[in-house]
Parts: sequence; structure tokens; C-alpha cells
Amino acid sequence: MARRYPEDVIYQAMNMLNKRRRLNEETRQRRIDEAFSKAPRLREIQAEIRKNQAFVMNGKPGSKAGISAEKEILKLRAERDDLLKKHRIPKDFQAPVYTCEKCRDTGIVYMENEYCSCRNELILQIAARNSGFADMDLPSFEQFDLSLYDDEIATLGKTRRQFAAAILKYCKTFKGGNILLCGGVGLGKTFTAECVANNFMKMGKAVCYLSSTRMFLMLDEYKFGQDTSQTNRQKIALIYDSDLLIIDDLGAEFRSSFTESMLFDIINTRLMERKNTIISTNLDMDEIRELYSPRISSRIAGNYKCLTFYGDDIRTKKFHKK
Ligand SMILES: [Zn+2]
Repeated sequence: MARRYPEDVIYQAMNMLNKRRRLNEETRQRRIDEAFSKAPRLREIQAEIRKNQAFVMNGKPGSKAGISAEKEILKLRAERDDLLKKHRIPKDFQAPVYTCEKCRDTGIVYMENEYCSCRNELILQIAARNSGFADMDLPSFEQFDLSLYDDEIATLGKTRRQFAAAILKYCKTFKGGNILLCGGVGLGKTFTAECVANNFMKMGKAVCYLSSTRMFLMLDEYKFGQDTSQTNRQKIALIYDSDLLIIDDLGAEFRSSFTESMLFDIINTRLMERKNTIISTNLDMDEIRELYSPRISSRIAGNYKCLTFYGDDIRTKKFHKK
């Protein structure tokens, strides 16, 4: 499937890199101005060092005048170092400032002749924002209400609330990996996934959030040419590339050989590229094995942390406590 981003997304990313360079140059200039206003003599020293250096370069090697110029340079450098120390100015106050050292904010790593990861990150963030994924009004873990789960034993001698508390703890600090959120309808799976999405967005990561029905519909419309718009293409690219993909309610989609092969492709590609994925589902692992091919279920079983909610539908208990 297509993994290209529209021209204007690339253009916006380049603009952001330009802006970064401009701001960093301003920061550097400000540091220099500050240093020179603290210690005005620094500017003179610099000019004198330069003059002497030119003299050394142009004069005869080993000449008397040349040697005294070299000595003068050493003296000036010592004076400069004293001044810097006295005014607590860092030695590299004139050095260029970069947000990304690897590409020096150009977006290209020249040594390797390829685009820098910081450029790719920007493109993903912009694409996610353009696709509306960043505008969602998402809940946060502070709103997660454990009192909605009761103390009935769920399984293995642990209560429903203990299971929910363990899930909360795991997801709150989740920084990467894959999660399968299981459990019946209305137990907080979507809510939990949305809280994780919120955390990722706060970290500046590109998140793609889709119900499985919507996701397969989009892929279908793209594949069969009904919707090849840039918007759709961009969303599809994000299904593969986003830092975090959330597939909500897997199992609710209309299953076909097409959805089967797409799901495998998405799960497998994201695993290989070490992208984070969360799947929420009403199915348990046995049902997943029954409904999906072994290559899909084995990848989920082997690479996803399975977290299960137990209880009665708590949405009626007003899950969204504000
Ligand atoms: Zn970079």
C-alpha cells in the first residue's frame, strides 16, 4: 500500500526545518551578544588574535616577527580564557546551535546521503495533524476511575479492580511496544487506548487512531479506486508509519480475504519496523486464533502484551468522570 505523503506535507516539514535553523541562529547570536556585553574586551582579543594569525600565515616561517606573533597569540588566548572563566561564559559560546546534531537541521545526513530521522518525524507529525488525529479531545489517565471496577474475583484469585489497576499501571508508563487490550464491551478499553494516545501526542509522537471498521473501509476504498484522495492516502501511510497505531475494536469489521491480508501486512510491517501498536478487541486470544489466520494470531500472541479487563459494562456507571 502507498506510503507516500503529499507534497504540501513535505513542504511544511522543510519550512519547519528552516524555521528551526533560523531560531537556532538567533539563539547563537544572542549568546554572542551577551558574552560581548559582559566582557567587551573579548571582541578586541578576537580581532587581535585574527590579525596575528594572518601575520603568522603570511610571514616567512621561523622569522623573528612570526615567532613573536605566535607568542602574542598564546598570550591573547590565555587572557581570553581568564575572561571567559571570570564571567562564566562557556568556551563554545560562538558555536552553532543545532536541534539535531546528526543533520545540523538540514534534514539530510550528507555522510550517509539520506534523509534524517528528524525530517521523517516532522513529516509524520504534520501528516497526523493534517489527518485530524492530533485534534481529538482525548482523556488522560487522571480520569481513569478504578472505583468503577468491583471486588468480585475475576480469575486467578484476583479481583476485577486489581486487574484494572494493573492495566492502568502498565499503560500509564507505556513508552513503546505492542498491547492487546481485551475484555467485554464498555470496560474501558477504548478509554485506556485514548489515554495512551494522549501521552504519545504529548511526547510529540505521531499517532494514528482508527476503528477497525473504518481502517479496513479506508484501505478498501483506496485499493479499489473509490477514494484515492491525498487525505486518504496520507491516512493509509500513517497506518504503517505512525509512531503509535491504535486499532480499536478488532473483530467488528467485515472479514474477508482482503481484510485478512491487509491486517497481516500492517501488523507484520509494524513489528519489523519496531513501531508501536495497540489493538483493542472484545475477542479473547482463543477467539482471535479461531477468526484470524495462524500467521496473524501467532504474531499477536508472540509480540503483544495481552491485558484483559473483567467486569460488567461500566459505561452505565458513567466512566468519563470529569
Ligand atoms: Zn536531523
